[in-house]
Amino acid sequence: MSTSIIYLVYLVAAVLFILGIKGLTKPRTAVKGNRLSSLGMLIAVVVTLFDQSILSYQWIIAGIIIGGATGATLASKIQVTSMPQLVAMLNGFGGGASLLIALANFLDPQSATHTIALISIAVTILIGSVTLSGSFVAFAKLQELISGNPIAIPANKLLNGILFVAAIVLSIMIVNNPNDTVLVYLLVAVALVLGLLLVLPIGGADMPVVIALLNSYSGIAAATTGFITGNTVLIVSGALVGASGLILTQIMCKAMNRSLFNVLFGVMAEGGETIDADEVYAGKVKSSSAEEIAMMLETAERVIIVPGYGLAMAQAQHAVRDLANVLEGRGTQVLYGIHPVAGRMPGHMNVLLAEAEVPYEQLIEMDEINPQFEQTDVAIVIGANDVTNPMAREDKGSPIYGMPILNVDKARSVVIVKRSLSPGFAGLPNPLFAMDHTLMLFGDGKKAIVELTQSLKEAD
Ligand code: NDP
Repeated sequence: MSTSIIYLVYLVAAVLFILGIKGLTKPRTAVKGNRLSSLGMLIAVVVTLFDQSILSYQWIIAGIIIGGATGATLASKIQVTSMPQLVAMLNGFGGGASLLIALANFLDPQSATHTIALISIAVTILIGSVTLSGSFVAFAKLQELISGNPIAIPANKLLNGILFVAAIVLSIMIVNNPNDTVLVYLLVAVALVLGLLLVLPIGGADMPVVIALLNSYSGIAAATTGFITGNTVLIVSGALVGASGLILTQIMCKAMNRSLFNVLFGVMAEGGETIDADEVYAGKVKSSSAEEIAMMLETAERVIIVPGYGLAMAQAQHAVRDLANVLEGRGTQVLYGIHPVAGRMPGHMNVLLAEAEVPYEQLIEMDEINPQFEQTDVAIVIGANDVTNPMAREDKGSPIYGMPILNVDKARSVVIVKRSLSPGFAGLPNPLFAMDHTLMLFGDGKKAIVELTQSLKEAD
């Protein structure tokens, strides 16, 4: 294949990636965006394999069938609630693949000759190894194979600093001594340990930021791999992943009130006092029934539904849509307040509610919905906890102080649907449950909402 045709096809693939990312920025165009990006990737992979004469047609077709079937099986089997683990694992594979390519190139006496290639190899080994081990720790934490709590490592910051400096020194030595394979294996070992130590101390509510950041690292590793192999489309796609991962990291940092500096240096989970749940709840929590809440909803003019992780666990999205239909049928305005980190992955609530065909226009983001709570008769919180916790706004000693929240407590009445007073992901009690204008509707999210809808219908 002539070089100019190859570059032209790479350009088409790069344009498809960019159009795909643009499509992914809006729920309405997200599916199309995903398809465009996948097509771009297929084109890039196939053309690279032909260009480099790496494989015969038969192997390419076999690879497409096996890879496609594996991807389709994973995508159809995976629960939406397990998506963060899957993303963590895929980031790890991305980092691992870049690491292997860098190693193979270093060990091949033909390829690793000039300084740029050697610098790229050292950088790829460093970032790829950190991504590999860090992502697998993130996976193990989210899959609950190891404790999700922060794991204390003595002198963690100092150790990370020493390992980072050692990695940089080793990288410089590799560029100056391209025949010394021991240095490369040492760099792999140092970077793998650094990845472990960066992610192990991070726990609970900070994990989504880590995954977004590791995603960015895997992109950077892919881009530097592109420099090693001289593959422009890999440089472009890696840079796109690196940049979009960083932007997502920043959005997540803002939503969870963590600075990027803290994320980069692994000091996110520090601070915070222990809060006694009994002190917050004792004698103040009011339990209610579906009938009582239905009576309250009968006169409501505006209702805001706040979904959280529990809605996903209960698979209550269709039941919620039914409740909204009944309310709207009675002339009540229904909106949904969406917190950027509600659930267990960015966009989790949007995906669930889209599945139940809730109109996009009713899904209102945090900054836009917050001023509206004061003019809202009833806020119904379904399986959400941390994202509504007023301690984040008011209690300077709280570990989540500063995290932007949905100001549900400002609504005239608040209904909380959950099974118990158990805490959410951050492990903290929520004073919202003990407020004067809050009623708890204890039970599984789906069952409780179905009962509520039934009671409302019976009142007609
Ligand atoms: P939380 O984890 O704070 O709370 C979820 C609540 O759902 C729990 O208190 C639980 O209470 C309830 N619940 C669980 N199962 C059910 C059920 N079947 N029916 C009804 N309720 C149920 O969720 P939020 O969405 O409010 O907050 C998300 C948290 O997750 C934040 O801390 C965020 O930082 C973190 N996170 C977010 C990620 C993201 O990208 N979105 C990724 C990783 C973490 P009970 O057991 O009493 O029913």
